Amino acid sequence: MNSDKTGFVWHEIYMWHNTGNYAGVMPYGNPVQPGTHVENPETKRRFRNLLEVSGLLKQLQPIAAREATEEEILRFHTPEYLEKIKTLSATCGGDAGVFTPMGSGSYEIARLSAGGVLAALDAIMAGEVKNAYALVRPPGHHALAHEGMGFCLFGNAVIAGKHALAHYGLDRIATVDWDVHHGNGTQSGFYDDPRALTISLHQDCCFPPDSGYTHENGEGEGEGFNINIPLPAGSGVGAYGAAFDRVVIPALKTYQPQLIIVPSGFDAGAYDPLGRMQMHSGGYRSLTKKLMALADDICGGRILMCHEGGYNGDTLPFMGLAVLEELSGISTGVDDPFMEIMAGLGGQQLLPHQSEAIASAEALLKKLPNA
Ligand SMILES: [Zn+2]
Repeated sequence: MNSDKTGFVWHEIYMWHNTGNYAGVMPYGNPVQPGTHVENPETKRRFRNLLEVSGLLKQLQPIAAREATEEEILRFHTPEYLEKIKTLSATCGGDAGVFTPMGSGSYEIARLSAGGVLAALDAIMAGEVKNAYALVRPPGHHALAHEGMGFCLFGNAVIAGKHALAHYGLDRIATVDWDVHHGNGTQSGFYDDPRALTISLHQDCCFPPDSGYTHENGEGEGEGFNINIPLPAGSGVGAYGAAFDRVVIPALKTYQPQLIIVPSGFDAGAYDPLGRMQMHSGGYRSLTKKLMALADDICGGRILMCHEGGYNGDTLPFMGLAVLEELSGISTGVDDPFMEIMAGLGGQQLLPHQSEAIASAEALLKKLPNA
């Protein structure tokens, strides 16, 4: 019988990936004073620490990360890019592409990050766990085949998805990216492939620039199998819930994936410095519930979450805890102290202009072929 446990991937060395002293997201140098890079270990450490302090961590099934093989990485990335990362990593580091600083040794860490997601996939496919959360770093959803982007070195979700198709022989997988930024890398990895339905909910025109529109709907045989849901800045739990009810869940019902991968960023949280959305832990909990109810119906509950963005170290751990509580079905009794004030922010309910934006994405459902 398959396990009903929730797997969890973590390795301290993920935190040793050094993004240097950028000023937030900006390379330093006169006139920009050196600072602290926004994608630094602290937010993720605090997420993991709250899991431990709440008592949830010891009830999750630990999954040991492994290094992704070159063959697995090359299913998505170009050999030239792989060589570039190796060379930078063996020296003093540098920029892997667009806003993607990396330090000495980051190649091995990025391999372990992609491999951590693969290990979680392996555990799900083996029936050792029902679902899993891979708290890996560096993140992956902006990385393109030929260059790093937006703090992402290797496309963790793409590499896992391609492994599910190639190694496990699945016919249909889906990705549901709720990071506040467009999952452009994941989109690009499957853009012409009908074996993957890629969905991204994100803040309209945030990052990357000029990316994530509804008209980016897949191409060739993949036409119709990429759905972007760009939401206006200021969207809260009402808009996210409606986007799930009206677009994400119906699309998944039509497509009937055998596995759902969630590039999970918490930067749609109300206080995140790199987003202008209003989500809170209750909102993420609710989205997780909706996804789980569907996954239980269509794919044996197989949900693989891999960590992406989220840059407010005070509030993010509570959003992560809420998601892990839902995935595992275990309540820790720990209340989110930020919940009340975030829930009371104006505009948490679905507003008319947000509903219009969701309607544009809803129209894409007509173009999604049946499974
Ligand atoms: Zn993000």
